[in-house]
Amino acid sequence: MVKNYILHNREECIGCGACASLDPKNWKMSSEDGKSDLIDSEKTEENYKKEINETEIDFNVEVAESCPVNVIHIYKDSEKQI
Ligand code: SF4
Repeated sequence: MVKNYILHNREECIGCGACASLDPKNWKMSSEDGKSDLIDSEKTEENYKKEINETEIDFNVEVAESCPVNVIHIYKDSEKQI
């Protein structure tokens, strides 16, 4: 079971570009609709999800904090950090 992961509520993304600018390894801006894509993520019911290592959590929390509409969420041991 995946316990450490990024969750992206893409529908609510306003395409500001902050995540892709801070972390181009995980995020890129879509040329189709201007929203960000979580690279190599899988689609769940409402979100996109990507597993991360425990060592990547702190940085990803920083990236999530940069999102002005709070649509990036980080889970550690299945607990929501942001
Ligand atoms: S920081 Fe948030 S609103 Fe901006 S592109 Fe990334 S997910 Fe979308």
